[in-house]
Amino acid sequence: MIRQAVAAAMRMMGEQFLLGRTIEAALARAKRENYLSSFDMLGEGARTEADAERYEKLYADAIEAVGRKRGGQGPEDGHGISVKLSALCPRYEATHEARVMAELYPRLLRLMTLAAKHDLNCAIDAEEADRLVLSLKMIARLVAEPALEGWTGFGVVVQAYQTRSPEVIARLAALARQSGRRLMIRLVKGAYWDAEIKKAQVLGRAGYPVWTTKPATDLAYLVCAQALIDAAPHLYPQFATHNAHTLAAVRHMADKAGVAIEHQRLHGMGETLYAAAAQRYGAMTVRAYAPVGGHEDLLPYLVRRLLENGANTSFVHALTDARVPAEVVVADPIAAVEAHPGRHPRLPLPVDLYGDARRNSLGEDLSIAADRAVLTGAVGPLIAEPVTAGPLIGGRRIDTGPALDVRSPNDRRVKLGVIREADEAAIDEAFSRARAAQKAWNALEGVGRAKTLRAMGDALEAARPRLCALLSLEAGKTWPDAISEVREAVDFCRFYAAEAERLFTGEVALRGPAGETNTHALHGRGVFVCISPWNFPLAIFTGQIAAALAAGNAVLAKPAEQTPLIAYEAVRLFHGAGLDPDLLALIPGAGETVGPILTRHPSLVGVAFTGGGDTARIINQTLAARPGAILPFIAETGGLNGLFVDTSALAEQVVDDVISSAFGSAGQRCSALRLLFLPHDTAETLVERLCGAMDVLKVGDPSDPATDIGPLIDEDAKGLLEAHLKSLQSHATRLHRAPAGGAETGLYFPPVLAEIASLDGIDREVFGPVLHILRYDPEKLDEMAAKLADKGYGLTLGVHTRLESFIARVQAAVPAGNVYVNRSIIGAVVGVQPFGGEGLSGTGPKAGGPYTLIRFASERAVSVNISAQGGDPALLNL
Ligand code: FAD
Ligand code: NAD
Repeated sequence: MIRQAVAAAMRMMGEQFLLGRTIEAALARAKRENYLSSFDMLGEGARTEADAERYEKLYADAIEAVGRKRGGQGPEDGHGISVKLSALCPRYEATHEARVMAELYPRLLRLMTLAAKHDLNCAIDAEEADRLVLSLKMIARLVAEPALEGWTGFGVVVQAYQTRSPEVIARLAALARQSGRRLMIRLVKGAYWDAEIKKAQVLGRAGYPVWTTKPATDLAYLVCAQALIDAAPHLYPQFATHNAHTLAAVRHMADKAGVAIEHQRLHGMGETLYAAAAQRYGAMTVRAYAPVGGHEDLLPYLVRRLLENGANTSFVHALTDARVPAEVVVADPIAAVEAHPGRHPRLPLPVDLYGDARRNSLGEDLSIAADRAVLTGAVGPLIAEPVTAGPLIGGRRIDTGPALDVRSPNDRRVKLGVIREADEAAIDEAFSRARAAQKAWNALEGVGRAKTLRAMGDALEAARPRLCALLSLEAGKTWPDAISEVREAVDFCRFYAAEAERLFTGEVALRGPAGETNTHALHGRGVFVCISPWNFPLAIFTGQIAAALAAGNAVLAKPAEQTPLIAYEAVRLFHGAGLDPDLLALIPGAGETVGPILTRHPSLVGVAFTGGGDTARIINQTLAARPGAILPFIAETGGLNGLFVDTSALAEQVVDDVISSAFGSAGQRCSALRLLFLPHDTAETLVERLCGAMDVLKVGDPSDPATDIGPLIDEDAKGLLEAHLKSLQSHATRLHRAPAGGAETGLYFPPVLAEIASLDGIDREVFGPVLHILRYDPEKLDEMAAKLADKGYGLTLGVHTRLESFIARVQAAVPAGNVYVNRSIIGAVVGVQPFGGEGLSGTGPKAGGPYTLIRFASERAVSVNISAQGGDPALLNL
């Protein structure tokens, strides 16, 4: 009964917001109900070339159908079409401009030429703020196209909530004036507000691209409206709103200027408002934006409408709320902005996201060309001036011993610098300096140490472009990965600074019987050794050191063999930030030789390690064989990470998350997705779409902003992956690969998708871009999940579903340290915390990162008994 009721409610909502399933049905209904429309073919966000082709055909057919039915009307009084550019290209992103111009632009031109042939109006919808500049570039090209000469139906949508909107209108007006081609401009407030806010926070941007108060958006709308009216007749103003105040204001402004305008509303909304307006103002042109399509494509659109109507800031919401007085519903935005100018008090800038706890780390905005140029500009100087690195003991570089070349995985011919290994004598010296310096450091307590850690966070942040460039060259990181990594390193320093203050300041008084004082305090243990992997050569390296230092220890840090240069830079930054150089030594060298010298050293008090499980076992055995105290060993190792998808999951979101988790960082993340479990019913279509999404991935030089997947780290890694691929070739039921890319002289391995029949034989972490897919029978979900659990890993687990019960079932069956759940609701969120773990979002300690400081500490509990007899003198004075 409930299902039927929900299905009926969905149908009713669909009918409310949809004009028809097909363009023919929509045209017939528009005629019947005497509607002027701009038809929107539902569907957005192509993930594959096939999606984009399908949408182009849908749009082209719709333009033809509308054109055929046109009875001599022009763009102003005939039906039109609205086009979403994200539907026409799977990579409609600022960093993929070349692809956009080569693939999306010709599609758009074909559609616009068709619309011009029929003399329809055809508008480009406005989407996310990151795409604004790219869309303007295409609009500028279209305006100069000879094929569109003489056509006056070219439409552009401008979002008033974007802080750049007045400049956008000025630019469009200049384009129209200079080209002599009239543009139709639909002014909207904007439909992606919450997504824009979240994205700016997650990516650590300097500010928000949208206004943060509702009255500011309303006022911006009026400012833009006036600019549009002033730019007539070069611009033809079309005002889309359901807000009575906004409608009345633009009407007043247009009448005063004597400019003809068009009003627009969404199908299913605003009928009564525009009926009342017609009574007041007389005949007016009102066009409805009319979605056309099947219910399966309705969801994103519907969610946006439900959010809009449900938001308490929304005009429609206030209007229908009997408790809100009329004067509040139509309050003057100018007065409201004057009364409360500035940002919304409950929306801190992204940098202040964590409030008093710590400052958020910031990152470059890759949708902005100038920010991209800052990063790419940092590459050249590093190549021109190779780094000379070596052990750093007491702040001094040791230049003895053979110098080993460090070469880039992107191109083995490129030498980035040299590194020298630490020998036993250097390690002895480092230990003795560290032991001597640790006492004073420990005595500083949390508050004293936090200052240095925060200074280190700031130093890393200030050096971000150079560090990103080094990450790109030495570790093969793409720009988004490199930025996230530096941000995470910054965040670790600030997080542990706050933790040090919280946990390591003074003694905590415990409750006890009369006559006793009992206290508890945490202290540093002595000299820790921190051993890190190459795959997060800055974030994990810095995180381990920061945690150990925060707890009052001194550190000898051993970076991975593959990535010593970034570690060298990080240690120098620590020293530059005011850390006594004796407290932190850099001990580069091979794990097999330098590792045991460190882990057997008598001055050692504990080890923090991140890397492979086998290495962890060796270190564990070495530590176990030591005489004396049993030392703490903090080990973060590999994983065999699974993602369970059910039939309720949203395909687009699954595709996005799977591609980013399995292939991001070339699959070289401990938390990367390795095993994808798809239900039989939807598996085929999902696999098809995943293959399509792989086809539009760009493998290549990570310092090119258009690159999605960089190289593997070294020849050994490539050898292991080639061998694994070979075995898959013999037993996988389906194998698909992304297009090859990158230099011949680089270590490139295009992502692989492999469908396998069973989990047998998949027992070890395959550290690279290889996604294994298993289809499962939902009846046997528990059985399948138990098989994954039996593999003995449990680092991360992903779930894609709309059903709470599915989440609970999977979680109960597979114990994992980090669980990423995507509830598949779109429109509202940019995607929940991306499945993929540390380094991806850079907004806080995540998988494998947040060491509990107590594991680095020694505890001291002190009990003082006032008198042997047990009495407390204070008791006598009660
Ligand atoms: P109101 O309730 O007056 O305003 C809602 C607006 O205020 C929203 O933009 C909301 O994000 C914003 N807002 C809410 N809270 C805050 C806050 N704290 N700070 C700042 N702003 C806030 N939208 C697009 O993005 N692209 C399009 O191409 C597009 N095409 C459209 C076409 C038509 C014909 C119509 C009618 C709408 C279209 N929209 C488009 C949707 C449009 O953006 C929304 O309908 C619009 O936001 C609702 O505005 P309103 O004036 O009716 O409502
Ligand atoms: P690895 O185990 O080969 O090396 C890690 C570090 O250990 C290196 O610095 C290496 O030189 C050192 N080492 C090697 N032998 C040693 C020895 N005998 N004694 C002391 N040190 C020794 O790992 P890797 O290839 O650098 O990194 C990839 C692995 O790290 C993957 O398994 C990945 O899953 C894991 N990882 C885990 C996490 C997590 O948080 N759980 C995060 C990142 C990476």
